[in-house]
Amino acid sequence: MTEKYLYSREYKKEDSVIEVNGVKIGGKKIVVMAGPCSVEKKEIMIEIAKGIKKRGAKVLRGGAFKPRTSPYAFQGLGEKGLKYLAMARDETGLVIVSEMMDTKDVSLVEKYADIIQIGARNMQNFSLLKEAGRSEKPVLLKRGMSATLKEFLMAAEYVMKEGNHNVILCERGIRTFVQYSRNTLDLNIIPALKKETHLPVIVDPSHGTGVRDFVIPMSRAAVAAGADGLIVEVHPRPEEAISDKEQTINFKQFRKLMEEVRRVAEAVGRKA
Ligand code: PEP
Ligand code: MN
Repeated sequence: MTEKYLYSREYKKEDSVIEVNGVKIGGKKIVVMAGPCSVEKKEIMIEIAKGIKKRGAKVLRGGAFKPRTSPYAFQGLGEKGLKYLAMARDETGLVIVSEMMDTKDVSLVEKYADIIQIGARNMQNFSLLKEAGRSEKPVLLKRGMSATLKEFLMAAEYVMKEGNHNVILCERGIRTFVQYSRNTLDLNIIPALKKETHLPVIVDPSHGTGVRDFVIPMSRAAVAAGADGLIVEVHPRPEEAISDKEQTINFKQFRKLMEEVRRVAEAVGRKA
């Protein structure tokens, strides 16, 4: 029996639509978020923002605080990176999403970003979830790499319990035995989540596969399976990207992704 959790369909029957600066997430239209893995130089960020906007993205992504496996790897530009994102927003009007990794950075991330991302590695960082729950900004919550459906939904509940009901759930691949991809994109969770929750569900085919050539097919599949949006790593010169270059697509590939996603969206009664 499902209890009346804030995330549940029992609490709220209709799909939640989260509106950020005029962009509706969870409505009929598929929302595409795109940008580099890490925030890069100012000029590159402006180039990316213009390039993705022209091709139909509504939200610019980019990490200023990066959760890297190695402590010696690039850790992100910090506040400088957030400033570049805000400059790109001023230039293009795109909505900004960026990751918050530490409770001490909440006011900083809130100051510049329109949507606060909580990454897979922090999905069960309960103090971070509570802090995000006290924010006015919507939260993009990524599924932990070994999180069950229940754990994922309960993480959302932590945010909602504090008063912030604007949570966007993101499937980004789970750890399995396969070795041909970085993660296994668990598209089963889309209908499973849709049954349990009114919250919007988006998919990250970049981290979900880790392989550039898999990004377009899995974007099509995600939309066909009922995802409300996508978050994709895009860079004009992926081979020069500071992080996650293997899974980053270029502008030409992003254009193709948008064209194909539009066709799939129409086939399933949505728009993109
Ligand atoms: C990211 O989106 O930049 C990221 C680090 O993703 P995840 O938390 O899903 O690994
Ligand atoms: Mn990345």
